[in-house]
Amino acid sequence: MKRMLSLLLVVGAVAVSGIAADKKVTSPYTIVTTCTMVTDIVAQVAGDKAEVKGLMGPGVDPHLYKPTRDDLTKLAKADVIFYSGLMLEGRMADSFMKMARASIPAYAVTELLDEEFLLEPEEFDGHWDPHVWNDVQAWISATQAVAGALSELDPANAAAYQANSDAYTAKLAELDAYAKKSIATIPEKSRVLITAHDAFNYFARAYGIKVMAAQGVTTESEAAISDINELVDYIVENDIRSIFVENIVSDRNLQAVIEGAKAKGHSLEIGGELYSDATGPAGTYEGTYLGMVDHNVTLITRKLGGEAPEKGLYGKLSPAH
Ligand SMILES: [Zn+2]
Repeated sequence: MKRMLSLLLVVGAVAVSGIAADKKVTSPYTIVTTCTMVTDIVAQVAGDKAEVKGLMGPGVDPHLYKPTRDDLTKLAKADVIFYSGLMLEGRMADSFMKMARASIPAYAVTELLDEEFLLEPEEFDGHWDPHVWNDVQAWISATQAVAGALSELDPANAAAYQANSDAYTAKLAELDAYAKKSIATIPEKSRVLITAHDAFNYFARAYGIKVMAAQGVTTESEAAISDINELVDYIVENDIRSIFVENIVSDRNLQAVIEGAKAKGHSLEIGGELYSDATGPAGTYEGTYLGMVDHNVTLITRKLGGEAPEKGLYGKLSPAH
């Protein structure tokens, strides 16, 4: 049943773009986006041709986000809508369908990713894992999807969108290489990333680190005591010293893990906070997609015993890495 639902939604998303295929916009126009990582790449590609309004602020959990009345007004007034897709914004699906009926073009930025790329871990119950942005290559694809969509809608500015996308993609490629190089410096036995919820499967595959989470797929599921006990046993056996909290999830489950490890005489610390499903504070470097990933990679690398510059790839991270 769940599998059928995801298929329907995927087909729905394709149909949404299909309906709007002949729709055109004229600059300046308004784009409405969902989560901060989507807002950032859309703003990078749109440049000065459109106003971009993000519905979810930094630190907001996209799995649980329900559109407010004000959001619905913004969506209804949008010329174009971009969302992440793969059911990340689970509680916004109805709104997207409504906008599609109103013939507002809505694009999932993940629509160019094929099944070969996508992961479907067992605990995801037949759904694709939506956390693709934690592999920078996927966000390169997403940036290109945005450029393609805007060029179709506003052909007069297609060259500008392509140039913006190319310039930004070059930075993302640099970030991807930095992530690969940094994570590889962590001693092999310590290359284990333990977080609050299951957001780093693509990160794990792309950068060569094992991941484990105290809580399942979406932030809605509760961690079972047996899962926490298993995690504690793994940590003690493998002498893991740092685990990581996330900006969008309560650290209650991780505190239980720390207490459990302590009870077995093992000292374990919170290595810091990762930006898992939303960027850091608006107006800071960490509030951009580049800064979000740079922060995560640099913090994970340094706390697990690898080598990365304290202030990250561009020397822009705030202190305490
Ligand atoms: Zn998540």
